[in-house]
Amino acid sequence: MTPTAPVTRFAPSPTGYLHVGGARTALFNWLFARGRGGKFLLRIEDTDRARSTPEATEAILKGLRWLGLDWDGEPVSQFERRDRHAEVARQMLENGTAYRCFSTTDEIAAWREANPRQPFLSPWRDATDLPDAPHAIRLKAPRDGETVIDDQVQGQVRVANDQLDDMVLLRSDGTPTYMLAVVVDDHDMGVTHVIRGDDHLTNTARQIQIYDAMGWDRPTYAHIPLIHGEDGKKLSKRHGAVGLHEFAALGYPAAAMRNYLARLGWSHGDDELFDDAQARDWFGLEGIGRAPARLDFKKLEHVSGHHLGAMSDAAVLDELDGFLAETGADPLTATHRQRIAAAMPALKEKARTLPGLLDQARFALIERPVAVEEKASKSLDTVSRGMLKSLTAAVQNASWSRDDLEAAAKAVAEENGVGLGKIAGPLRAALAGTSATPSVFDMMTALGREETLARLQDQTDLAG
Ligand code: GLU
Repeated sequence: MTPTAPVTRFAPSPTGYLHVGGARTALFNWLFARGRGGKFLLRIEDTDRARSTPEATEAILKGLRWLGLDWDGEPVSQFERRDRHAEVARQMLENGTAYRCFSTTDEIAAWREANPRQPFLSPWRDATDLPDAPHAIRLKAPRDGETVIDDQVQGQVRVANDQLDDMVLLRSDGTPTYMLAVVVDDHDMGVTHVIRGDDHLTNTARQIQIYDAMGWDRPTYAHIPLIHGEDGKKLSKRHGAVGLHEFAALGYPAAAMRNYLARLGWSHGDDELFDDAQARDWFGLEGIGRAPARLDFKKLEHVSGHHLGAMSDAAVLDELDGFLAETGADPLTATHRQRIAAAMPALKEKARTLPGLLDQARFALIERPVAVEEKASKSLDTVSRGMLKSLTAAVQNASWSRDDLEAAAKAVAEENGVGLGKIAGPLRAALAGTSATPSVFDMMTALGREETLARLQDQTDLAG
């Protein structure tokens, strides 16, 4: 028998943004499918009409696109499939696994009051004499025995059937319940593996009962522990960033987020840093742990720094463009882009986030005359300005390579009987106006001859 390729899905309810936990669920499903030649489907659970605006759906698609998770086919709208859900409920009536329940809300409330903490037992379960009146359709759930979930993460989870009531499948107004809709959709979409947050585990026993009632094959389940904040508590707004867009705005590149999120709850030996191909190769349900993963910004920075360093210069520039657009900043001008591109090998080596990289690239973005910060200005005195003047003369016609520029600076330092550091300080102040920058020679090559000499001139003019 040839093993069939898996079909996974991500089934978000539109809440207005893509939660980082949802993004992680989507990533696990994507990795699982993509690593096995399978399909990754998207279903928008948009039955709550008040919340399901086109904008709320778009926010989720945007988050997935940003993270680089592509899905197969068109996103499925759960709401649009409501007739099919109702059809299945009627099929269940026909095959005797569901029944019409005429109990009113008041009657059910009264029953519950008389039978506290017991699952509701409908008097209509075995009734044969039925009125012509509004009714819900309920599952005729098994009363004896257990429903056993064979979960790939949680192990065997057993639920005593007498603890579950005959759930409503179709309400008296004809709308399907969430439980029915999920099962019908997953079945019709051919989903083989349901990988989702363990907050859904309690729904699973009920969903399995619907599969069994319809005689459908159950999917394989993997319920993954939720993500907690750094303090070990369930992740919430209190912890700061919870939406994927907030992480994007903090300047973590998407490739780093994929790597970092993959490690939140899943592991492959001691591997912390990996690329997509490795993640696809390695990812499996057996690597998912049972303990909640903790969000750790220090680790995320580390992963982010690694990925920035490993990306091509062009890819980092793309990320930078995206980041500037996302945060509403001005796009790079052609000159700025050229300078940053020239300094990129040095910039990406050091940076851990995109704002960190922009900070180091500030020298490339500022205009003359360069405003010199107080701390940096301390290195600009008469003597050092004199050295800058000598350097200007020395490099006026020199070849503009890093090595030649460094040799010229060394020569000037030697003539003045000082170390290279004594000239690098004022040079840095003149070029960038601050003391935290890439190496002075990287800045000179990135700025080019004309701009460098002009910035030096601005300072030496002040030498008197
Ligand atoms: N719509 C559900 C949620 O957003 C997920 C349902 C599922 O994965 O089965 O939590």
